[in-house]
Amino acid sequence: MVDVAKNLEVVRNKIYDAARKVGRDPDEITILGVTKGIDIERIVAGINAGLKVLGENRVQEAEQKIPQIGRDVEWHMIGYLQRNKVKKAVKLFDFIQSVDRIPLVEELKKRIHGGNMRCLIEVNTSGELQKHGVMPGDAADLLRAVLESEVLDVRGLMTVGPYPPEETRSREAFRMLRELRDRLENEFHIDLPILSMGMSEDFEWAILEGSTMVRIGRGIFGARNY
Ligand SMILES: *Cc1c(COP(=O)(O)O)cnc(C)c1O
Repeated sequence: MVDVAKNLEVVRNKIYDAARKVGRDPDEITILGVTKGIDIERIVAGINAGLKVLGENRVQEAEQKIPQIGRDVEWHMIGYLQRNKVKKAVKLFDFIQSVDRIPLVEELKKRIHGGNMRCLIEVNTSGELQKHGVMPGDAADLLRAVLESEVLDVRGLMTVGPYPPEETRSREAFRMLRELRDRLENEFHIDLPILSMGMSEDFEWAILEGSTMVRIGRGIFGARNY
């Protein structure tokens, strides 16, 4: 049996050390526990150890899991969102991190009734073609559509680092996200405080480059069931 509480403690210590290295306050970094492929028992162990934010990649898996775990924790959609899953997704999730194209914004506009859905814009910073996310040069147009939608409350940017992770390339990608965020804040006169970047194998580099939310699966919960 994996010791989820101990793993989480190790992650917290690494976050602390990485933040201190660059003079940042470790408390400004949120840990999102990625629960895809993880059984209920381990998820509950994570919540008992203090996780308050969880993320799932697939609407279908979230549909099974979220009702069992409940909504006392915050649930983030972090995977590619198909248009035909939007209706379910807006009911299940508190936050959508994977807004990556204008047609998705249009579908969200149709499906969100009353109130706002918090979201991030997912950016492809690695140039890997199989990766999701808007290309950096198209991010401003997408942000404009998000702001005009009036149903989305955009809080920042998200990216998945290069694979395999490697210090120079990974840090370049994370830096690109931060610099893009800074440019968009200036251009649109808005605050985009959240930079969701860094996973089990690259979160320390992401923190050195300004990450405010690390998304960690295996590093907390151990191996996935699939
Ligand atoms: C799976 C996944 C993660 C977590 O990956 P680990 O390597 O298990 O930490 C983070 N972000 C996204 C978008 C993912 O799909």
